[in-house]
Amino acid sequence: MALSNPKKILITFVLAAAAVLYFGGRSFLEKCYYPPILMYHSIDDHGSKLKLSVPVKELREQMKYLRDNKFDIVSSAQLADMIKSGKKLPHNIVAVTLDDGLLDNYVNGFPVFKEYKIPATMFVISGSIGKPDFLNAAQIKEMSDAGIDIESHSVTHPYIESLTADGFKREAVESKKAIEAITGKTVYTFCFPYGGFNDYARDILRDAGYAAGYATMPRDNSIALDLYRMKRIKIASGPFSMLDFRLKTSGYYMWFKAHRWTKKKSTEY
Ligand SMILES: [Zn+2]
Repeated sequence: MALSNPKKILITFVLAAAAVLYFGGRSFLEKCYYPPILMYHSIDDHGSKLKLSVPVKELREQMKYLRDNKFDIVSSAQLADMIKSGKKLPHNIVAVTLDDGLLDNYVNGFPVFKEYKIPATMFVISGSIGKPDFLNAAQIKEMSDAGIDIESHSVTHPYIESLTADGFKREAVESKKAIEAITGKTVYTFCFPYGGFNDYARDILRDAGYAAGYATMPRDNSIALDLYRMKRIKIASGPFSMLDFRLKTSGYYMWFKAHRWTKKKSTEY
């Protein structure tokens, strides 16, 4: 049966409206997307370190969730390469990063990462390697050989904003050299201690051979990707940690946070 003209017009209109909603909605979602880069510190069951620690059981649940839900887990170095390529980022990626190079990352975290084949990134403080409660060179080498991405978190863990450009350069260059001597692999990314940042940091990192810098969560309303100031999401322990984790790995958490901060003073997290 041939359709009458009004019916054809109606169908065309409905299809056009659906297309606008679909593609318009998609481009809106695209604008709100920021790759979830998760930030952990300590992995231990005692929760002593100022709420910065996540118990092993929760870490395991979270890594299982990533695997069960077909996330593509990338290292900090892989993510930097993907962004540099200029291609559209797939929305199922997630990066798992741990700061400070604590001993419990090896004792408690590494077995979980092996179990779920997670190429986690550990940002280690080169000057702390081998000290009590920190990773030693053999543990770093073992994890690097097993696919953990070992990257730099400076030599002495200073607040960057208090350093001169030369002082920062030393932190960037010397930590890179020291870690590369242990792993035999190129250190490709840098993580700013305490989330501090300075205008000279980008150029110094680039000149020193770093492809990217990772921050914490700067309190600004921008979700533009800045390779030398990648924003990360703190993972904390708590009664709603799995619900929280789902939101934080959605790819839209940063947009919600940025939205909340639009009317607030812009300061570092
Ligand atoms: Zn740190």
